[in-house]
Amino acid sequence: MGLFSKIKNSLKKTKENFGGLISKIFNGELDDEFYEELEFILISGDVGVSATAEIIEAVKQKAKKEKVKTKDDFVALLKQSMLEMLTFNKFEEETPMLIAFIGVNGVGKTTAIGKLSHHLKKQGNKVLVVAADTFRAAAADQLTEWATRTGVRIVKYAEGADPGAVVYDGIASGLAKHDDYVLVDTAGRLHTKSNLMEELKKVNKIITERWTGVAKNYLVLDATTGQNAMEQVKTFNEFAKIDGIVLTKLDGTAKGGIVFEIATEYQILVVYVGVVEGVEDIEVFDAESFVDGIL
Ligand code: GDP
Repeated sequence: MGLFSKIKNSLKKTKENFGGLISKIFNGELDDEFYEELEFILISGDVGVSATAEIIEAVKQKAKKEKVKTKDDFVALLKQSMLEMLTFNKFEEETPMLIAFIGVNGVGKTTAIGKLSHHLKKQGNKVLVVAADTFRAAAADQLTEWATRTGVRIVKYAEGADPGAVVYDGIASGLAKHDDYVLVDTAGRLHTKSNLMEELKKVNKIITERWTGVAKNYLVLDATTGQNAMEQVKTFNEFAKIDGIVLTKLDGTAKGGIVFEIATEYQILVVYVGVVEGVEDIEVFDAESFVDGIL
């Protein structure tokens, strides 16, 4: 099964839910009651209050203008409005590029770096991974396993080392060997722990000072945490400017609606999505396929 089918498959429940509920409330009468019920459906799908309000407003106007009568036409308008929310400000990845992966513990940072190193290498890039999560005992070993498996270089120190020093060396190594991508694993930190968040600032300072290419921070989010993820976006963004989101675990119970809320509230787009744990199970986020997958 190709990855897109996997993502589609994992969003099948959301699609059935959205589709089923919209069929249930659609009787050709696009009145206030209909839109109230649609609002409830979207919010229940993790789309979030402000993103839902924006979608409803857009779709209301379009439906009126185009005199929509059938359910299929309405769903097409809804898809179009949701897609529009995700089509802005898309930056292209440029090499040489350093990406720091940040986020709370267990969201799937190390796994995402492992999968991504495979994905980028397959495209012909030289990739270096940097084990700057010196806090969690097994993190560097886990990353080493991925590096061996995907055949990319790794820079690592012993457990407990200063993450700033690892990043410093990682950058020097990446520049010296002309790597196209330097993927930095950072320690999982609770967004409520200010000392660890301060450490993130320090790592970012080193990156700004030493790295000569493009540098981005990708926040890794576990899609199954739903609304909780918004709190993580808010706090991390205060300490390190988030350039993109990696949405993991889009399998299981994830509803995916969070993508819209992050786009509306923070103008940050999802860059990659991951499902399950296979090396191939990560893909560049494609808004159109995603909206197709949930509606
Ligand atoms: P980190 O602490 O953020 O580095 O998280 P890890 O990469 O160690 O992942 C935490 C757990 O989530 C591990 O058991 C991974 O195998 C699992 N995991 C990571 N990504 C995915 C995913 O896309 N889907 C599922 N189902 N599990 C994942």
